[in-house]
Amino acid sequence: MSRVDKPAIVPLAAASLRAGPVGMRAQPACRLCGKALSALERFRGDVCDAMDCRRRAADAAMRARRESDIDALRSLAARAWDVPALAAAPVVWLTHHDEDLAPPLAAELADLREALMALEGDAAEPPQMAAAEPAPGSAPAALGGHLCTLCRGRCCRLGLRGNAFLGAGQLRHWLAQQQPAATWADAVDHYLGFVAAEHLDKSCLFHGAHGCTLPRERRSDVCNDFACDALERVRETAAAQPQAVVVVGIVQAQAMRSASAVSAQGSRTLAEARDGLQLP
Ligand code: SF4
Ligand code: SF4
Ligand SMILES: [Zn+2]
Repeated sequence: MSRVDKPAIVPLAAASLRAGPVGMRAQPACRLCGKALSALERFRGDVCDAMDCRRRAADAAMRARRESDIDALRSLAARAWDVPALAAAPVVWLTHHDEDLAPPLAAELADLREALMALEGDAAEPPQMAAAEPAPGSAPAALGGHLCTLCRGRCCRLGLRGNAFLGAGQLRHWLAQQQPAATWADAVDHYLGFVAAEHLDKSCLFHGAHGCTLPRERRSDVCNDFACDALERVRETAAAQPQAVVVVGIVQAQAMRSASAVSAQGSRTLAEARDGLQLP
């Protein structure tokens, strides 16, 4: 053997040692839980067959799909409506509230009356009236109001069992304003008088077709203070830029059901699910 043969053989041997023996390569693993994938799971993709992993992967795929759909809608609407800012408008997502309007059940009204009557014994709570925040008429309040209208008050479902979160202080505040003096039962009647003929089924009795039927100054602190993440975000956006437009996507069963462009001036539908990506 000549001396020039050796250099070609030595690097090859070193490379094969670095690769290790055949069959020792790392087995592909589920990208979500790390479990080694079977041949069938590898054939299907990079997620194992465990229910949790398949559900998480399906949810992520739906999320990516609706995000790309809403991006396409923003761009389409920005051109069609000649509103360039819409193409880069922030996006917030809300979950569809499925219930329809229905008359309040007699038993639900009786429960609310009983709960409000029982508050009379709560001596500790002084008259209360919540300060409106953000200021009525401001851009954050207006944009937030349009957002909650689109949402149809999903958070108010808790107000059914929570008796609208009312406390003795709200009723005492009304009583303190009455001349001549009124009774606690009058205050309860006053409150029940705000229940509309129909409310959103399975939601707070004050949850009417166009939002809360209680004037803001009659609502509980919980109701006046609560803001979900989406509402916080649009308020912050409007506080920084009163003319801001926000794109609101409504999700149902993980898919985008509809989308709207919302500003302090109002909201405009971008698309309904049945229309695909067509502008109305
Ligand atoms: S606060 Fe959030 S969840 Fe409640 S009505 Fe407004 S947008 Fe919907
Ligand atoms: S009182 Fe109004 S804001 Fe409060 S939970 Fe009921 S409908 Fe919603
Ligand atoms: Zn897995």
